[in-house]
Amino acid sequence: MPRQIRRVGLPSNSPAARRAVIFRDYGAPEARPKVYIHAAIHADEIPGLLVAQHLTRLFDEAEAAGAIDGRITLAPYANPIGLDQWVNSYHPGRYELMGGGNFNRNWRDLTPEAAERLDGKLGRDEAANVALIRETLLSVVEGWPASIEMDAWRQVLAREAIDADIVLDLHCDLESLMHVYLLAAHWPRFADLPSELGSRGTLLSDDSGGGCFDEAMALPWLRLAQRFPEAAIPPACFATTVELRGQADVSDDLAEADAKALFRFLQRHGVIAGDPGPAPEALCEATRLEACDVVKSPAAGVLAYKAALGERVGKGQVIAELVDPAAEDPAKARVPVFSNTDGLLLTRKLHKYVAPGASIAKIVGKERLENRRTGALMEM
Ligand SMILES: [Zn+2]
Repeated sequence: MPRQIRRVGLPSNSPAARRAVIFRDYGAPEARPKVYIHAAIHADEIPGLLVAQHLTRLFDEAEAAGAIDGRITLAPYANPIGLDQWVNSYHPGRYELMGGGNFNRNWRDLTPEAAERLDGKLGRDEAANVALIRETLLSVVEGWPASIEMDAWRQVLAREAIDADIVLDLHCDLESLMHVYLLAAHWPRFADLPSELGSRGTLLSDDSGGGCFDEAMALPWLRLAQRFPEAAIPPACFATTVELRGQADVSDDLAEADAKALFRFLQRHGVIAGDPGPAPEALCEATRLEACDVVKSPAAGVLAYKAALGERVGKGQVIAELVDPAAEDPAKARVPVFSNTDGLLLTRKLHKYVAPGASIAKIVGKERLENRRTGALMEM
């Protein structure tokens, strides 16, 4: 069992229901490294929920064996609001139905307020800076508005993660191979994470620009280092988004293997005792997110893919045809959709009827694309 299980309630949007986030804490309260893991901040991304369930067993066993050297907080489900969003038997969990937007976008940038509070207080002592910055970031989070459910929920998660050394944000894509988003500042120090997971797309950026949860936790360190160049400020929070394949890739076989991979990663980084062995050889090299083509649908229609996941495609190759069911002449019903780069087809749509402008594929290329710019790399 964990040291403790905390149930943190959220203010309710309705007098009839009150939701809570559960945190399972392992290891001594002040131990380092501190790790924060949560699953399904996009509540319709189910693979992480099953991986978290396998992690609870592995962590419970490690705690019983006295093998937790650091500290771990695991939220088996990150998003009680989204988990509860049933609409006519469908479960849309990416956006809040109250109108609060994408659950994993627009997380506040903690940097401006933290920089104001830290001005004149940072020096050459890296350890002292890290302690002061963590304390300051936490105090900024404590000042966030939290009277409505969505805001309170953001504060509850950020409070757990903002002072962590390692943050693992477990997501999945639609139809997809395993892939990982990392900040380039953490590369190659944490290269064993994608290796352990068997990542087929290891995507580095300096700032994806989406205000994603993981970057909201990690980027303040990089931004404060820019703001105070004289001070010794390391990138002390490694936060990453792990895309556990596609929405339908939910099985105990996959989840157990993924949980064990994460467990070995934590062993290698001093969080859990025991020898994980060497990390397996990477299945792909790390590439820039600016070189990852996001193919858009030119119109509404039915997607007939012409390339499979994992297939290497060339620039200009037809990867799908978009079929217009309203076309009078069947010979004119199909519009080809092309790859804009040479690379590996990483993701596709799960649902094959799409609106104009929908992202229908990601292709891992090596050459930066003109339309893919730092700070504007994430779909909303
Ligand atoms: Zn997601």
